[in-house]
Amino acid sequence: MIKIKSPREVERMRAAGKIAAAALRLAGEHAKPGVTTQQISRIVHDYIISCGATPSFLNYNGFPGSICTSVNEQVIHGIPGPYTLREGDIISIDVGATKDGFVGDCANTFAVGKIDDAVQRLIDVTRQSFFEGLKFAREGYRISDISHAIETYVESQGFSVVREYVGHGIGSQLHEAPEVPNYGKPGRGPRLMRGMTLAVEPMVNAGGAAIKVLPDEWTVVTEDGKPSAHYENTILITGGDPEILTTGED
Ligand code: MG
Repeated sequence: MIKIKSPREVERMRAAGKIAAAALRLAGEHAKPGVTTQQISRIVHDYIISCGATPSFLNYNGFPGSICTSVNEQVIHGIPGPYTLREGDIISIDVGATKDGFVGDCANTFAVGKIDDAVQRLIDVTRQSFFEGLKFAREGYRISDISHAIETYVESQGFSVVREYVGHGIGSQLHEAPEVPNYGKPGRGPRLMRGMTLAVEPMVNAGGAAIKVLPDEWTVVTEDGKPSAHYENTILITGGDPEILTTGED
């Protein structure tokens, strides 16, 4: 069942979303050569706690980190650890913050120092694919209209979308109905209604779409070893333009 959020609940999601967005920006500022992914995680963890919130991913289904840090060919769910970032790496950071019982979830891929132009283009296309999907995040469209717009744009740019992991409804739970795939035919799935809150999160591979999970049972990597990027916001369906809840502005 898809939960329609009341104005009061939306207000709480805005608060959680702001904290998650600020935490993600902070993470990006620390994604520099010589920094370990564990150091970034610690900084973000402390920031979220200082806001009176909790890191939503810590212990979620047993996940052992406060955030996800996925470097280069890692797609999602990378566990923060001793890896030291190097010039030319990219790092996808996924942050969740829970405040007053509601969750904000967002992700972005950051360049570590100077990176290849081709990899920067992967990051740019991944971000833009979210906004292509957002054009259909409006009352009257269906879930898969978002999915189709993302896939169509990504493939037009020569990249591929990950299929095994998808966006999701979000609210008092990190993952709620419905699923929001990043691929598929248009006009399918639930009709969008104002008060729905969704995490839209394209995961885009430079090479093939295939992925595998590492023996740590969390880290998802591309099968061909080519880089992958991730971009995510928590959004609210309204009677007009969708509202991005994980935004730092105003
Ligand atoms: Mg998510």
